[in-house]
Amino acid sequence: MSRVLNHKDRLVIASHNQGKVIEIADLLRPLEIDIVGARELGLNEPEETGQTFIENAVLKAELAAKAAQLPALADDSGLVVNALGGAPGIYSARWAGPEKDFNHAMRRVNEALLLGSNPDRSCSFVCALALAWPDGHTESFEGRVDGSITWPARGQNGFGYDAIFTPLGRQQTFGEMDPSDKHAISHRADAFAQLLSACLQS
Ligand code: IMP
Repeated sequence: MSRVLNHKDRLVIASHNQGKVIEIADLLRPLEIDIVGARELGLNEPEETGQTFIENAVLKAELAAKAAQLPALADDSGLVVNALGGAPGIYSARWAGPEKDFNHAMRRVNEALLLGSNPDRSCSFVCALALAWPDGHTESFEGRVDGSITWPARGQNGFGYDAIFTPLGRQQTFGEMDPSDKHAISHRADAFAQLLSACLQS
């Protein structure tokens, strides 16, 4: 049974990335709650030691909820390539190296696929969300969008691995799509739709 977030409740976004805090605040506008970022509250940034997207989202949300004594929301996302056993997966950001060079990360994905004997280029973007309360109650949601790895990379829109991801049934990569088209079908949209429907209906 989902727990409700009430009008004017305060919610911590358990991220130190201000861009992400702003984007999430925007997605949660229908809830009409008061949003505050982890950095604003002086919370520590935990190490992501989980083995799955959900485990990482849950550990970040639970630590923030305990530390702030407020409900907290965290996310964790990445690219899952089936022929690579799910890699880069929870290590999607790390594949870009310390320089955060996603051209390098996208090349690594393509080279790893070429090295293997499996011609399967199917993949998914996954977004896990965890909503935790200070008393230990936690709920989680997982959104996904399926597609395939395209090479060479195409398009300048978006970020991360967008230029090599073509969603199922589409011709354009996320990097070529209008951002509003991407946002209508993305893993993040799917996860937030589940969260909003749980928090609004209960
Ligand atoms: P995190 O959830 O902020 O740790 O992000 C993980 C990584 O997954 C990002 O750095 C991106 O490389 C990748 N990623 C997550 N969502 C997307 C997306 O919508 N497009 C492209 N890459 C993404």
